[in-house]
This record gives sequence, C-alpha cells and structure tokens, in this order.
Amino acid sequence: MTARLGLHGVTKRFRVRDRRTRRWSEVTAVRDVDLDVAAGEFLTVVGPSGCGKSTLLDLLGGLTPPTSGRILVDGEPITGPGPDRGTVFQQYALLPWRTARGNVEFALEAVGVPRRDRAGIAREYLELVGLGGFEDRHPHQLSGGMRQRVAIARSLAHDPGVLLMDEPFAALDAQTRESMQDELLRIWRRTGKTVVFVTHGIDEAVYLGGRVAVLTARPGRVKRVVPVDLGERADVPDARSSPAFAHHRHVVWSLLRDEVCAAPDPAEV
Ligand code: ADP
Ligand code: MG
Repeated sequence: MTARLGLHGVTKRFRVRDRRTRRWSEVTAVRDVDLDVAAGEFLTVVGPSGCGKSTLLDLLGGLTPPTSGRILVDGEPITGPGPDRGTVFQQYALLPWRTARGNVEFALEAVGVPRRDRAGIAREYLELVGLGGFEDRHPHQLSGGMRQRVAIARSLAHDPGVLLMDEPFAALDAQTRESMQDELLRIWRRTGKTVVFVTHGIDEAVYLGGRVAVLTARPGRVKRVVPVDLGERADVPDARSSPAFAHHRHVVWSLLRDEVCAAPDPAEV
C-alpha cells in the first residue's frame, strides 16, 4: 500500500499573541507551497530553522488545516489525521510504562486492530526494525537509537501508505544516526512506502532522498527540488564519500547558504 501526495498553493498562517504587548499578530509559516510526492518516493525536506518544515509535515499529517490551498492524498483532500499516514516525531514520544511491544500494540489498538492480532503484528514490525528479542523491554531500558526504532515500528505497524518523519534522528549520535539511516532505507525498499523526511542535516537529506526539497527562510516556500542520484546508495558502503554525493551536497548547501544568511523580511512576520 502506498500513496501519492500533493500540495497546491498551500499557505499556513498562525495567529500569535505578543506576551509583552498582548497584541495579536500573524505569522506566515509556509506560503504558496506547491509540491508533488510520487507514490513510493523518498523525499527529503531541508530548510533553515523556523522556516516551516514541521508545519509542512503537520499539514500533511492533517494535524492542522491550511489557511489556503489544497492538500491531497491520492487525489483526495486531507481532512484530518488518518491511518493512511504514520508520523515519527523528533522526540520518541513512547509510553514509558509500556514495553516496546506494548507501545506498538497501543498504536494498533488505536486504529482498531483486533486484540488477538496485535501481538503478532507488533513482533513482526519490531523484528523489521532490528529489535527482535527486545520486545519486552521498557523505553528506559533501551538506547536512544532503539527507542527511535520502536517509534518507527509503531508508525509502520498499521501499514500506512505514507510515512511522515520530522527530524527523527536529530537527537542521536553520529554513528547511530548513520546506521538508522541505512536501516530506514532498507525498510523503505522493502515496504515501498511514500516517505517525507524533514531534516536540517544536508548530508542526511542527500543520503536519504531521491529528491531534496530545499525551503526558503520563513515564510517557507519551495526554493528548489534537487534530484539526487547516488547509484544504489546504501548498497554502496562508501556512498557518503563518493564524488556524486559531494556534488549533490554542494548543490544543496549552496541553495541553503543564501537562505540561512537572509534575514526574515519584517513585512512577512
Ligand atoms: P521548523 O520546523 O522549520 O523549524 P516550524 O514549522 O516549527 O519551523 O515553525 C515555522 C514558524 O511558524 C515559526 O515562526 C513558528 O514560531 C511558527 N509556528 C509554528 N507552529 C505554531 C503555532 N502552533 N502557533 C503559532 N506559531 C507557530
Ligand atoms: Mg521543526
């Protein structure tokens, strides 16, 4: 099961209240975003801090409605969260009193999977993310990387066509992050899901994405979508040090550099 996504002229504004002056004003988080994600594509999204990356994922997740524009899953407008989309946040957001298996089962319960099926499915997905044998551990008995694997297993378990990931590896050390990236590519190849992966890491974006969407400073717009061809990526152990990688990295870095330096336009705040 997989799905395609479409954002058409999507703008999101928030009303915010200044704590000192108590005046209301508006913040445009993303503006006029047009983006299509093909079924089964792995798209990464990079942009300066505060440019609206998380907002974009929340819009796709249906956690917040757009101010204007249309967001479609397989041609149908998104009206709220749904089992067709799974989200992995930056922080693990696991239930501390439940085991790894219990956390995955909880997500299955939430989408109405019958009790008798839950344990088997949970075990299968924990196995898929390399946590076979750790099902009965509680989050505090797992490392950061393992907790994030539980979160990934949890979002995969109800088999959503779309995986929305918001800087899921940002809190991990460099080595764990790289092995999680390989793990994720392996899972993506096996399951064929549509993945939208937000990161502020250029290397991560280039390594994982078949295309990299580079956003502008706030209000976030799509500055450029960069296609990445690294050959077979994870199947080449040194893909990260290949000339193709360096080339794409430089392209994305150049696009971002101008944005990080650009001060936000006060008229847009
Ligand atoms: P990023 O993930 O790229 O760092 P965000 O999407 O979190 O950026 O935020 C983009 C802008 O929208 C920021 O200026 C942020 O303060 C604002 N923003 C995000 N969510 C809300 C909200 N719920 N209410 C008010 N402002 C928000
Ligand atoms: Mg964010």
